[in-house]
Amino acid sequence: MTQSAAERMEFKTEVSQLLDLVVHSLYSHKDIFLRELISNASDAIDKLRYLSITDAELAGGQTAWRIKLSADKVARTLTISDNGIGMTRDELATNLGTIAKSGTKEFLAALQQAKDNVNLIGQFGVGFYSAFMVADKVTVLTKSPKSEGFSWTSDGKQGFDIAPVEKAERGTDVILHLKEDAGNYLEEYELRTLVKKYSDFVEFPVVMDVERSETPRDEKGEPVKDAQPVTTVKTETLNSQKAIWSKNKSEVTAEEYKEFYQHLSHDFSEPLEIVHYRAEGTIEFKALIFIPTLAPMDLFTKEGQRGLQLYINRVFIMSDAKNLIPPYLRFLKGVVDTSDLPLNVSREILQQNAQLDKIRKNLVTKILAVLKEMKEKDYEKYQKFYRTFGAVLKEGLHYDHDQHEAIAGLLLFESTTAEPGVYRSLDQYVADMKPEQKTIYYLAAEDRAQALAAPRLEAYKSKGWEVLLFLEPIDEIVMPDLYEYKQKPLRSVNQGDMDATDDEKKQLEAEIKQAGETYKDLLAYMGKKLESDVAEVRFSPRLTESPAALISEDFGMNKSMREMWKAMGRELPPQKFILELNPKHPLIASLAALEKKSPLSGQLEDTLFLLYDQAQLAAGHKLKDVAAFTRRLNQLLLQTGAA
Ligand code: ADP
Ligand code: MG
Repeated sequence: MTQSAAERMEFKTEVSQLLDLVVHSLYSHKDIFLRELISNASDAIDKLRYLSITDAELAGGQTAWRIKLSADKVARTLTISDNGIGMTRDELATNLGTIAKSGTKEFLAALQQAKDNVNLIGQFGVGFYSAFMVADKVTVLTKSPKSEGFSWTSDGKQGFDIAPVEKAERGTDVILHLKEDAGNYLEEYELRTLVKKYSDFVEFPVVMDVERSETPRDEKGEPVKDAQPVTTVKTETLNSQKAIWSKNKSEVTAEEYKEFYQHLSHDFSEPLEIVHYRAEGTIEFKALIFIPTLAPMDLFTKEGQRGLQLYINRVFIMSDAKNLIPPYLRFLKGVVDTSDLPLNVSREILQQNAQLDKIRKNLVTKILAVLKEMKEKDYEKYQKFYRTFGAVLKEGLHYDHDQHEAIAGLLLFESTTAEPGVYRSLDQYVADMKPEQKTIYYLAAEDRAQALAAPRLEAYKSKGWEVLLFLEPIDEIVMPDLYEYKQKPLRSVNQGDMDATDDEKKQLEAEIKQAGETYKDLLAYMGKKLESDVAEVRFSPRLTESPAALISEDFGMNKSMREMWKAMGRELPPQKFILELNPKHPLIASLAALEKKSPLSGQLEDTLFLLYDQAQLAAGHKLKDVAAFTRRLNQLLLQTGAA
């Protein structure tokens, strides 16, 4: 294929699917096509302007940046043109023929299932394809500084045609051949209203030629008698181009905030919280930051690690300045505008810039303070935030040691003493600690039911001590980084002993020692039988109800960490567990008696394995040999006459 030939290309499957969805589910929101196309035009100008800071040639002497709307009532076309970066042939084919975002397939599948998919699709950003909500044919004429001009034409169904065209100016014209029912987008009033509503803060002028017919007037300003009206054409700017982050809070209406948020995020929902402030002193900047209500679908993928928009003195520098916020606040959307950086700062320098570091520290402190206030003053709202973004925020425990205390103060957990689904904070926990308790106890598990089945909790329950439940996979990875809160150590109930007075400890030790002696033979027998399964069989003072419990070796790697290592392809030694026995449970005494009487009996072995298997189940493990377990259980049921 030579650069000069015309070519027919097919859309990638996901584009066709998305087009189908956009046209059908976003129907009632079709106005947004204009916002999307103007935003693309503005992005294209940003790109060229940015590049021409260092290479003036690229812009070809262009500085009168503008986005122009032209409506042609005869041809029924609406054209959105810009004098931005344009596209080469390859860029045309890639940018307007594929969807580069990861997770697209999964997302589209979810969308087709979802009932109210409007919000979802908005988060994904329908972008350019929204043009097909109002047009049955779209032609794009474009010219990049790097190449000749090309046209792209499509009816938004199977594919598109690309062909070379003569185009004098750099930039892009998007020509919409409007559908039968979209004639309103040819009206000046309609376009004016839409630009005001959705694109008022776009930095570049959005202009339109407007016709005015006027009756000529004489020197006194009186209409000239019998004169024909004269039509004049004037280019008008439709948007105010006001950077709303530069204004004072009091000058911005709730509606303006909301529209700006939707413009930034392509999200249809309202932001949960707006943080608009100005930092002065060692570093100066203005920030307008939004905490969204809904999580974007790629929150946990690499592509989801976006940043804030960075402006220097109202000049747009980049759209996803990752180092303005740490990854654990990646759900934020917004703008930072500073005068403390040189305009021609390169992206490389931005990677490690001391000024930027200062801005980030300031932003982090501010956002955490806002969250703290929300938690104290509007707990309902805070819980909403926490359920959506809490798992992300927690990552900060691992990555931001300076903010440990602040982040820890924002955490919420379920707990053994609270109703299911009711959160407790570390502060609440500490306030309600029993006088003899020195440690904050927690237990990590996959869900509440599994956590509550843990035999290790029995002793805590019987003393009435609260245990926090870590039920999210991230907890096991990040929570070990928080070894204390308000001078109280945090410890898993699976690690070490419960707090006890010296006297209590002495007594417990004596009991365990005694049990070890009484049941010496039984311990030896069990240790041998379970040699390849557990590292040790021993008595424990912590069990009050269950006969036995399986625990992982103290300070060994927890489950999530092991899974993480495995995912990274690292070899791990098999995990060793300890089987703990309850010396006071009658089953132990009867096992010991059986061991004395007939050490070689099948019944002894069966009971032992049943004991071990139930300890495994309680610990949330899968049984290696389910068939053997059922056989033994059935055998037992028969013996007891239960069946
Ligand atoms: P997004 O803007 O989120 O990247 P869009 O679907 O709106 O997604 O646009 C897809 C891509 O097409 C853009 O990323 C850009 O590369 C290209 N594009 C769209 N409109 C223009 C334009 N007016 N000028 C230059 N490139 C454009
Ligand atoms: Mg876009």
